Amino acid sequence: MRYSLLGYICCPHCRGSLRCFVAREVPTPISRFIAAAPERNREVEIENGLLLCAGCGRWFPILETLPELLPDHLRDAERDTGLLDTVAAGVPPDVREGLKPIPTDGTATDAGIAHKRAEIDIASRIENHDEFFGPGYSSPFNPDNTPFTLYLIKLFASVIALLDIRPNAHAAVVVDSGCGYAWTTEWLAKSGIEAIGVDINRLYLEIGIRRMGPSRPNLLVADVENLPIADGCADAVLAYESFHHIPNRSAAMAGYARALKDGGSVVLAEPGAAHEHADVSVEMMTKYGILEKGMEIDDVEEYIAGLPFAPPEQHYILHASAADLQRGIPLPAAWRHSLFHGNTFRIRKDALIVAPAPIAATTRVHRDAAPIATAGTEFEEMKRVHTRLMRERDAELQRTANQLRRTENDLAIARQTLLHIETSVFWKLRRLWVRLASFFGSHRGDIPSERRG
Ligand SMILES: [Zn+2]
Repeated sequence: MRYSLLGYICCPHCRGSLRCFVAREVPTPISRFIAAAPERNREVEIENGLLLCAGCGRWFPILETLPELLPDHLRDAERDTGLLDTVAAGVPPDVREGLKPIPTDGTATDAGIAHKRAEIDIASRIENHDEFFGPGYSSPFNPDNTPFTLYLIKLFASVIALLDIRPNAHAAVVVDSGCGYAWTTEWLAKSGIEAIGVDINRLYLEIGIRRMGPSRPNLLVADVENLPIADGCADAVLAYESFHHIPNRSAAMAGYARALKDGGSVVLAEPGAAHEHADVSVEMMTKYGILEKGMEIDDVEEYIAGLPFAPPEQHYILHASAADLQRGIPLPAAWRHSLFHGNTFRIRKDALIVAPAPIAATTRVHRDAAPIATAGTEFEEMKRVHTRLMRERDAELQRTANQLRRTENDLAIARQTLLHIETSVFWKLRRLWVRLASFFGSHRGDIPSERRG
């Protein structure tokens, strides 16, 4: 773990700030794409240590350069407690005495625990490790699967545009939620973005580290439903082919909303609703217990209900000839021209908005599930699209009205300031000087020519 990560993380339970006790540092090669500050950030990594919460007194391990900020019920309590002895040297005795045992409750409130456990323990269920984890060592490139490799690269290029990264004096902060082998985090970091890769499975991140070497972006073992990222520090959150594995999506979205700056975006690049019925998904679910549930825009509306987000936008990256465009591509048919099989969504944080509960479920038409739409379902679909567009327009109007109000406020403040200046002694003296100067024929005053003399 690099020292700079301390500026972005918090306790997964109480969001308190974390104090770091270093047991061992390891020198690492200087990397140009790692932030220079704080001091020694480019030269060393914390290999082993403790992160101690100032809010609730919980402690979390940094183990072989990877910080683990999992909620109590997902932690390996036995391993973590054993670790205390090895990191004790870095912790002052009075702090060490105050370290509480890891609480064991919390399981009951997590309905998705079976899926999370399956993700964490995936290695124990895999028969052929080389075949399953092999692609992680060269991600995203997999010469044995060219179509999938090209798909991943095309999809990444498209979501990069949706992240709205603007050239700034400071690097934009992007949380890569559910980063897996972390090649997306790696590519973001190499592009000059302060990327933080988060995954629940330590093994995926370890494989990523072996691929990238020590010159790698920030990585963090955590549960995105209990996102340990500090309030308002992220410019964007990316969930690239990962959000469909999350059991409680509203909890994850609430964490994203908290971690994002106002105006920042969540970008989802995910499979559609038909995904869970695909053979490969059924196999993943039955054999490994991993959740495979894709989503459509109605689902995304459900996930963000009650949170400070503007209506979700679904983006289509189209592959269309000039003739196709001339004929016009209606929205319900856009997927036929889509460059990908998946769905991409952008959801902007707007602190002044509360996302409404979704429109009462009409007959949902999921494109792969029902490729041949009848006239009735097509009408329903168009009605649904119309309602959504109307809501997006209303939200846009509300946003504009808010901006207008802010501008009016700014204007009132500016007028007030001007009035203060004009009534000040300095201003009166200056006006007197200008008048005198013009009377004596000097042109140094700045009054317009028609008012001179
Ligand atoms: Zn805490």
